[in-house]
Amino acid sequence: MTSPSSTVVTRFAPSPTGYLHIGGARTALFNWLYAKGRGGKFLIRIEDTDRERSTDEAVKAIFDGLSWLELFGDEEPVFQFARADRHRDVVNELLATGHAYRDFLTADETTALRDQAKAEGRDFVSPWRDREPSVDDLTKPHTVRFRRPLDQAVAVDDAVQGTVRWESASLDDLVILRSDGAPTYNLAVVVDDHDMGVTHVIRGDDHLNNAARQSLIYDALGWTRPTFAHIPLIHGPDGAKLSKRHGAQAVHEYADMGYLPEAMRNYLARLGWAHGDDELFSDEQALAWFDLTGVNKAPARLDFDKLAHVNAHWLRLADDDRLAKLTLDAHLGRGRALQPDDEERLLRAMPFVKDRAKTIPELADQTAFVLQARPLALNEKSAGLLQGESGQRISRLRERLGLFQSWDVFALEAELKVFAEEEGVGFGKIGPSMRAALTGGSASPDIARTLCALGRDESLGRLDDALQQTK
Ligand code: GLU
Repeated sequence: MTSPSSTVVTRFAPSPTGYLHIGGARTALFNWLYAKGRGGKFLIRIEDTDRERSTDEAVKAIFDGLSWLELFGDEEPVFQFARADRHRDVVNELLATGHAYRDFLTADETTALRDQAKAEGRDFVSPWRDREPSVDDLTKPHTVRFRRPLDQAVAVDDAVQGTVRWESASLDDLVILRSDGAPTYNLAVVVDDHDMGVTHVIRGDDHLNNAARQSLIYDALGWTRPTFAHIPLIHGPDGAKLSKRHGAQAVHEYADMGYLPEAMRNYLARLGWAHGDDELFSDEQALAWFDLTGVNKAPARLDFDKLAHVNAHWLRLADDDRLAKLTLDAHLGRGRALQPDDEERLLRAMPFVKDRAKTIPELADQTAFVLQARPLALNEKSAGLLQGESGQRISRLRERLGLFQSWDVFALEAELKVFAEEEGVGFGKIGPSMRAALTGGSASPDIARTLCALGRDESLGRLDDALQQTK
C-alpha cells in the first residue's frame, strides 16, 4: 500500500453514517485537486469502525455522491474495520515500547476518578499509567491507553491554520483499544494513513484537536507525520453553521436541483479557496492552480446565486446531447409519459434555450413547448389572438413559410422582418399570435428560434392545426 516518498498521496476518509454532505464533497475535492494536480494519488477510505452508526446504505450514498462528482480514487477503497487486526498489532507495539498501558478501571471508576480530578482542578490520569498489572490482572477486562508524554508542548504545523500548539497535559491518555478489543478512531486513522502512504491530510477543522493526538502517536511509533491541512467548515448563506434548516446539505440534492457536476466542482473549489478573482474555471485550471496556501482560514458561505451563475456557465458549454438526456429525465420526473421522439425534439431545441437556463429544471420549463402533442389545445386567450385580421395575417405568413426552405435562425429572422414590413405592421402584431399558434401560449424563445426549435414540419403542422381550429 505504500508509495514512493516523493509522491503526494491524499485521501478522503468519510465515516459512513449518512449521505455525502456538501462539506465532505468539498474535502474530497480539495484532496483530489491537491494530489492529482501534482501527479499524486487520491485514495478513499471508509471509516466504518463505529459499527453501530455505520451502514451499507451510507457507504453506497457516499460512493454515489463521489461518482456523480466524478471524483474517483486511484486505488480500491480501504475499509477501516477490515484492518482491525493491523490496528491491534500496532497497539501491541505501543505496549511493548512503553508508549501505551493497560487500564483496568471500570467505566464507573473512571467517571468517579475523572469527576474527583475535576473537582480538585487536576487533569485526570488513570492510576494504571504507573502501575504494573499482575498476571491475575491481565485476565480481567481492560482498555489500552496511549501514554502521552507529560508536560510537553505539541506543535502541529498546519498548512492552513499555521503552527498550532497544545499542552500535552490537556490531551488525555487516549483510549486506543476498547475493552471489547475494538481499536479506536485516532489510532486507526494514524495506522491507516501511515500504511496507505498518505503524505497530506486535508480535512475539516473539526479534526484539528485530533491532529495533536495523532501527531503524538506518529512520534511514538517513529513514523513521519503527514502534512496536516485543516479547512474551515462551510456555513449557510446567513453565516450560521450549516444545518437542516438551510436545506440542501446532501450532494444528491444538488444533483436533483439540476446542477451539473463540473459546475459543482467549480463552485466547491471556490468555496474556501481562491485563485485571484477567478470564479469560472475548468478542472484543468483548478488542478494547475490549487494549493493549500490559497485556502481561506475563515468559514466559507454557501451562496446559491453564485452557484446558479457558475452552473449557467457550464450549461452553456455542455454538450447538447447530454443536456437533452438530462432534460428528458427532468420531464419524466415530472410525470411525462415517454414518447419515442422526445429526445430528438429536445435535442433540436437545446441550442435555442440553453443560454437562458441556470439549471436543468429551468431547461425543462423552457423546453416544455417542444414536447406538446399535436394538435395543441388552444386556450381562450391563444384562440383570441388568431381571430379576424391577425388570423388572416398568420395564415399569409403560413403560406409564405411553406415556401421557405432555409430553416435557420438568421434566415427566418430576416424573413419575418420582411413579412412584417410588407404587412405594414410592427412585429408586436405578429409575435404573440405566432406564439399562440406554435406553442398554445407556452413560454418559448423568440419566434425565429421557436420555429427552429420545433423544426419545419412540426412548425407548419402546428400553424395549420391552429388556423384550422380558429377558422
Ligand atoms: N472519518 C472522519 C470524518 O468523517 C474523517 C477523519 C479524517 O479525515 O481524518 O469526519
